[in-house]
Amino acid sequence: MAKYKDYSNGIEPTWCKGCGDFSVLRSLQVATAEMEIPRKDLSVVSGIGCSGRISGYMKAYSFHGVHGRALPIAQGIKLANEDLTVIAAGGDGDGFAIGAGHFIHAAKRNINITYIVMNNQIYGLTKGHTSPVSDQGFKTPSTPQGSEDLPLQPGLMSLSAGATFLAQGFSGYQEELVDLIKKGIEHEGFSFINVFSPCITFNKQNTYQWFRKNLTSVSEDRAYDPSSYHGAMGKLMETNGLVTGVLYENQQKEKKKEMSLRETPMALEREEFQALFNRLY
Ligand code: SF4
Ligand code: MG
Repeated sequence: MAKYKDYSNGIEPTWCKGCGDFSVLRSLQVATAEMEIPRKDLSVVSGIGCSGRISGYMKAYSFHGVHGRALPIAQGIKLANEDLTVIAAGGDGDGFAIGAGHFIHAAKRNINITYIVMNNQIYGLTKGHTSPVSDQGFKTPSTPQGSEDLPLQPGLMSLSAGATFLAQGFSGYQEELVDLIKKGIEHEGFSFINVFSPCITFNKQNTYQWFRKNLTSVSEDRAYDPSSYHGAMGKLMETNGLVTGVLYENQQKEKKKEMSLRETPMALEREEFQALFNRLY
C-alpha cells in the first residue's frame, strides 16, 4: 500500500507556515498514493507563483513551467503519452489572468488531464496585489481605495466553456479535498478543481475563518445531482461560488470528446499509410 510520503521528494516547501498550499500538496500526495498511481506514470506540471512550486515537491515527473502556461504543457504531455496521469496546477493569477485563454480552451477541448487551482484571490509571490478573482472593494497596495472590478467566477467560466468535471475544495477541509482530487483524476476528460487556499500573509480578508463561515458544501447533500448542468450553474450563482464538492460531472460528453493521438488526422494518415504498405508488400 503506497503512502503519501512515497510521493514527496523530501524537499521542505518554502511557503509561509500556514499557507493553504501545504494542504493541497498533502491532499495530492494522499490522493495519488491511495490510487496507487505508479510514480513513473505521474506527471505534475505547474506555472509560476507561490503555488507553482508544488511540482517541485512531488516525487513524480514534474515540470515547473512558465507563467500561465501549465495547461498547454500538460496537454502536450498527455497527447504524447496518454498512459500518464497528468496534473496541471497553479494559482489564480497564473490561471485566470495570463493563463485564462488556455483555461477556457482546455475546458472546451476536454483532454483527459486534471487542473488544480490554488485560489487565494491574490498574487502572493509578488507581494499581495489584486488577482482576477479578488473581491470587489478588496484593498491592496495596488488598490488602496479598494478593487473596483467584480471578480471572475472560475466555476461558471469552466462550465460555460464546456468543462466535463468541476469540483471546488478548501484547504481547511483536507478529507473532502483528497476525495475531490481522486474523483477528478478518475474522470476521463478535463477535470477542474478550484481550491480555496488562503494566503495567510497578504490576504487578511479571505481567511480560513472567513471560508469556514461562508462556505457551503454539496458533498453531504444527497439531493444534489452533479449530472445537471443547470443545477451546477444555479448552485454556483446562488452561493456566489462559495460552495465545495463535486458540482458537475458529465459522463457522456467525456466519452465522445476524449482525444488521443490515435484520433488526430496525422495518426489516421499513419494508419492509412500502414494499411497501404501492408497491401503492397
Ligand atoms: Fe502562501 Fe501567501 Fe506565503 Fe505565498 S505569500 S507562500 S500564497 S501564504
Ligand atoms: Mg493567487
